[in-house]
Amino acid sequence: MSPLLVFATHNAHKLEEVQAMMGDGFLLKSLTDIGFDEDIAETGSTFQANAQLKSKAIFDRFGFNCFADDSGLVVDALHGEPGIYSARYSGSRDPKTNLELVLQKMEHQQQRSARFVSVISLIWEGEHYFFEGRVEGSIIEKPTGLAGFGYDPIFIPDGYDLTFAEMEAAEKNRISHRALAMQQILDFLKQHS
Ligand code: IMP
Repeated sequence: MSPLLVFATHNAHKLEEVQAMMGDGFLLKSLTDIGFDEDIAETGSTFQANAQLKSKAIFDRFGFNCFADDSGLVVDALHGEPGIYSARYSGSRDPKTNLELVLQKMEHQQQRSARFVSVISLIWEGEHYFFEGRVEGSIIEKPTGLAGFGYDPIFIPDGYDLTFAEMEAAEKNRISHRALAMQQILDFLKQHS
């Protein structure tokens, strides 16, 4: 039987992306699947600390092998913002309001380089591991595209002329920050399970 692995997220978009990447070697369960509907406070000051807070909360409560992703958009001209505050940059959790705040702060800004970062904290057989993926790109001036979530409509990865929100899901899932971190975790799990 496939080993059980919990993905500690309430974000349905992240879950869908990770499910598509995971294949069928694991029985992947979400927080909803295990009946956990509380919010885990992200009080850390780094992606790594916040990812670990989430995985540890689930491991401490249930003892399941589990992982959590903390991710965000890092914009050079904004000194790394929104960064760990990506989900609530404007004070609201509304993705459109947050995206508009980035665009407003980037108005008249020539330097538009940015990256998406994903840090995954895995607790496997009681041991803690971290995996990191990044994708470099730039911030455009007007939201473009309807797919994806969060800041996808304003981010064009280097080497492409489409935003993440204009790409097929399969294409984003091949090159994204989360895909790169997930490839590492999948390699790890192949060797350890
Ligand atoms: P977290 O759930 O605390 O990790 O917050 C992640 C936030 O970063 C999301 O709510 C989005 O605003 C942003 N983010 C992370 N990954 C992506 C992505 O793949 N596309 C667009 N926005 C993302």
